[in-house]
Amino acid sequence: MVKITGFTSRDVRFPTSLDKTGSDAMNAAGNYSAAYCILDTDVELRGHGMTFTIGRGNDIVCRAIDYLAARIVGRDLEALVSDWGKTWRYLVSDSQLRWIGPEKGVIHLALGAVVNSLWDLWAKVLQKPVWRVVADMSPEEFVRCIDFRYISDVLTPEEAVDILKRSATSGEGGGKQERIKEAEANRAVPAYTTSAGWLGYDEDKMKALLRKSVDEGYRHFKLKVGGDVERDKRRLEIARDVIGYDKGNVLMLDANQVWSVTEALDYMSHLAVYKPLFIEEPTSPDDILGHAAIRKGLASSGVGVATGEMCQNRVIFKQMFQASAIDVCQVDACRLGGLNEVLAVLLLAAKFGVPVVPHSGGAGMVELCSHVSTIDFVVVSGKKSILEYTDHLHEAFEAPAAITPDGFHVTPTAPGYSCDVKEAEFGKFECPSGTFWQSEIGQKMLNDPWRGVPGEQTS
Ligand SMILES: [Mg+2]
Repeated sequence: MVKITGFTSRDVRFPTSLDKTGSDAMNAAGNYSAAYCILDTDVELRGHGMTFTIGRGNDIVCRAIDYLAARIVGRDLEALVSDWGKTWRYLVSDSQLRWIGPEKGVIHLALGAVVNSLWDLWAKVLQKPVWRVVADMSPEEFVRCIDFRYISDVLTPEEAVDILKRSATSGEGGGKQERIKEAEANRAVPAYTTSAGWLGYDEDKMKALLRKSVDEGYRHFKLKVGGDVERDKRRLEIARDVIGYDKGNVLMLDANQVWSVTEALDYMSHLAVYKPLFIEEPTSPDDILGHAAIRKGLASSGVGVATGEMCQNRVIFKQMFQASAIDVCQVDACRLGGLNEVLAVLLLAAKFGVPVVPHSGGAGMVELCSHVSTIDFVVVSGKKSILEYTDHLHEAFEAPAAITPDGFHVTPTAPGYSCDVKEAEFGKFECPSGTFWQSEIGQKMLNDPWRGVPGEQTS
């Protein structure tokens, strides 16, 4: 028996705006950040859970974590995870906190950190990586993790058990046990790269990074678009020069929500000639019918529609699937209320036959999403899909994500959910006490963020 005796929330921010890492048409200068929930117990182990933000406001998420995590102090871990779906419902049911959501926004980001900290702790107790904890569940145990309220009109628990039972004995490799072996051999999750495609990178830097990615064995490349159509045409021209049209390389585009529906259709009419596989986040993540209209409008050009990194809960995903609005489901490991709600979306995607390509751009995101993609492949869809790999900040983590020489994600092996940040990194980047944030440039970024700091000018 392990008892939760207390918790800490921690605000860590990496100053990525200084070199434009992560820059796109909507987010010109973010500082990759994580709001942490760290659970203390009556044994040696601690549970680490995080949610991802890009800087200012990370402290607000930490305050929300404080409210939510207080609800599990004094509780036994085993009791909390033995009926996970019920625990999840309990965590979203404080009516006063629910009022500032419900199940969306800051309070839901915070829930993600708290729920993920419980998964991390549980997996550490079981001495397994989180993906393996899920892979070792029966279909009935998996389904008990999920709160089916608001989705049972399209997916019942009984149907979900059937999907998992079918997957256990079919799909790639023949069945779940064979796919576990593939995962253990680091063959479960092929990687794609966004490292060359940030909007703030100049054309020479982009070209050099694309060449490097090709040499490293990547076959899938994603570029940010949506700043300026003429500039984007030039960038895509360069990209296709490097990766070619007939070498088996796949190009993907990401607009990060900058367009209205009509603007998306107009802009993409100029870019379709570069044959992207999909346009990601062409418009507001809440606009389900807008995504459906864009998908319909682009169908004849062969360009698909992807979204999910800012879809706020399983209800939005349910409707995206019902409306045939997306070709690719980009569920995020932190935006939803932790792994339990992600599992619900994986099941919905499997039911509708939509491939899952989790959103993993950001600090700690590849670390978390390699578990999610492995679960989808091994347990749910039974099919390989791709997962983003961005080469930033892995050194900050105790169990960093990595790539094999032939472009697969290394399957996590360390017990837990792989998002423990090294204490030395907290020493540098915890906000505002870390040495970076106390330095002259750090103080300038905190106290006068819109003026005088090169990375933070967002005109
Ligand atoms: Mg994106």
